[in-house]
Amino acid sequence: MSDRPEHIVIVGAGAAGLMAARVLARGGKRVTILEARERCGGRIHPLPAAKFGYPADLGAEFVHGEAPLTRRLAREAALTVRTIGGAQWSFDGTEFSRENRRDPYDEQLHAAVKDLTGDITVADFLRRHFAGPEYARLRHAVERMVEGYDAADPERASTLALRDEWMNDGHATQARIDGGYGGLVDFLAAECRRSGVAIHFSAVVTSIEQSGGKVAVRAAGETHGCDRVILTVPLPLLREIALPPAARAKAAASDDIGFGSVIKILLRFTRPWWREQRQDLSDMLFLLSDATIPVWWTRQPDQHPVLTGWFGGPRTAELSHLDPQGLIGIGIDSLAAIFGLSREDIAREVVAAAAANWAHDPFARGAYEPRGARASRARRRPCAVFRRGALSRSRHGNGGGCPRERNGDCGNDLAGMRKKARISAGLLSHQRPPPKLNVTPGPPP
Ligand SMILES: Cc1cc2nc3c(=O)[nH]c(=O)nc-3n(C[C@H](O)[C@H](O)[C@H](O)COP(=O)(O)OP(=O)(O)OC[C@H]3O[C@@H](n4cnc5c(N)ncnc54)[C@H](O)[C@@H]3O)c2cc1C
Repeated sequence: MSDRPEHIVIVGAGAAGLMAARVLARGGKRVTILEARERCGGRIHPLPAAKFGYPADLGAEFVHGEAPLTRRLAREAALTVRTIGGAQWSFDGTEFSRENRRDPYDEQLHAAVKDLTGDITVADFLRRHFAGPEYARLRHAVERMVEGYDAADPERASTLALRDEWMNDGHATQARIDGGYGGLVDFLAAECRRSGVAIHFSAVVTSIEQSGGKVAVRAAGETHGCDRVILTVPLPLLREIALPPAARAKAAASDDIGFGSVIKILLRFTRPWWREQRQDLSDMLFLLSDATIPVWWTRQPDQHPVLTGWFGGPRTAELSHLDPQGLIGIGIDSLAAIFGLSREDIAREVVAAAAANWAHDPFARGAYEPRGARASRARRRPCAVFRRGALSRSRHGNGGGCPRERNGDCGNDLAGMRKKARISAGLLSHQRPPPKLNVTPGPPP
C-alpha cells in the first residue's frame, strides 16, 4: 500500500470544480484543476467594478431561496448576502402596472397541477387543462415563466418537475451577495491554493484515457496522469470530451438533459432616467413586457443607475446572429419601445454596457439545464464516479450528487457542490437560473 496521496484531476474551475477541489485537498488528496479559460468561476463571471460602479455579474447574480450552503460559504468568506425587495412591474404595450393582481384562474392551475399523477410536458398540460380563450393570459404567463426562468421549451419541459415552483408562486426570497458572486469564487480559489491545489488555466481537456490501470487526461498538448478524474464541465462540453467507452456509456445519461440558453445585457446610465420618467417606478425591481428583451431589473434597493436585461429559452435562437454590440443595441431598442422614447434618448444616457449570449460562450454553450421530463429521467440514473480502472455507482445514486440545495425551494449554483465533492461525482447536475418572478400575476419571464 503506497503512502502516495491519491491524485485527482478536476476538469473545470467553476463553482463545482473549486468546491470539489477544496474538500478533496482538505481531505489529504493531491488535486489538480484543469480549466479551459484564463480565469476561475465559469458561469460566474464578474465584470470590473470600475465599469458598472460595483462588481456586476454577467453570469449568476441571485441567491435563490434559503440556499443554506451558499450562505454558509458566504459567511465563511465574510461576505454579506442581502435580501432584495422591490416591486414587479409590467408593461402591456400600452400601460404600466404594478403586479399585485392574482390571475382569476390561479386556484384552478394549482388544483390541476396538484392532481397530476403522471408527467406530461407543460405545453400538453396547458392544452389539456387550459385551452379556452379565457385562459390566454394564464397560458402566456406560464409559457413565459418556463422559457424565461427555466430557459426551457414548454413543448419539452416537465410539468411535474415545475410543480413545486408553481405552487411556491414565486414567494421564495431572492438575495444578492455584496460584491457579487465573484467574491465567493475568489475565496474558494484562494482556499484551494492554500491547500496546495494546482490550477492550470488555458487547459482545454480533449480526452480522458484509461490503460493499464492508469488514467491520462489530455489538455493543451500535455498529459496529466492521475488516479481519478472529476468532470464539472457544462453538459454540451461533456459531450465533446473523448471518454473511455464505459465512461461514455455512463455519461450518456446526460444526453437526455437539455441545456437552455440565456442572453443577459447590462446597461449603466448617467442617471436613473426611468425613475425621473415615472416616479411610481421608484421601487421597481423587475419590469416585464413583450419587448424583444422582455425582462429588466434594477439594482434595487441599491441606487446604481443600471438596468439588466434578460431573455431566456428557445426563442433566444432568433437573436443568435447578434454579437454583444448587437445585443446591446436590441436592449436599448427594447427600453425605447417600453418607455416610448427614442433609441437616441436612451443611448445618450449609456455610460457602460456589456452583453452575453451564453450559447456563444465556447466553454458553456448555454446557461443551465432546464428541469424537463427528460432531465428528471436522467436524474434518476446513478451519478457516475470516474476513476482508475472502472466507473462505479455513487452511493448517492438517486441523484444526491446533483448540485441543488435540498431545502425544497432552492437549487443554487453552489448548492450541493460540497456533496458532489464528497462523493466524487460530477456528471449530472441541475443548476439554478436567475431571479424568480411570480407565475400567475402578470406575464413573468
Ligand atoms: C447568465 C446566467 C445567469 C445565471 N444566474 C444565476 C443566478 O442568478 N443564480 C444562480 O444560482 N445560478 C445562476 N446561473 C447558473 C450558475 O451560473 C451555474 O449553475 C453555476 O455557475 C455552474 O457552476 P459549475 O461549476 O457547475 O459550471 P461552470 O461555472 O460552467 O464551470 C465549468 C468550468 O469548466 C470549464 N470547462 C469547460 N469545458 C472545459 C474543458 N474541455 N476543459 C477544461 N475546462 C473546461 C469552463 O470554462 C468552466 O470554468 C446563471 C447562469 C448564467 C449563464
